[in-house]
Amino acid sequence: MIRIKMAQAGKKSAGPRPKHVPVRMCIACRRSDAKRGLFRLVRDAEGRVSVDPTGKRAGRGAYLCHDPACWDQALKRRGLERALRVESLDPEDRAALEEIARGLVNE
Ligand SMILES: [Zn+2]
Repeated sequence: MIRIKMAQAGKKSAGPRPKHVPVRMCIACRRSDAKRGLFRLVRDAEGRVSVDPTGKRAGRGAYLCHDPACWDQALKRRGLERALRVESLDPEDRAALEEIARGLVNE
């Protein structure tokens, strides 16, 4: 276990982050980032997987960072299926996610 020393909250009340920022972890590289720094992927009741830009959709969620290598790993090595507990990605959903991953390369 890694011991994390908690910052003393409330000492700098004038800071731009007065509240706790939700931190999520990329399922591929396991890097943590603030929630908005990661893509949220969500599996709905029908087992369909899509990106959730609002971060509020119901369903089991998984997070991926903006690194195309992570998308590659999640899509090709079943990382996403494992994280979202689906048997296999719908080919349509997979194609849509691959499209997003391709867009990241050019960013
Ligand atoms: Zn990552």
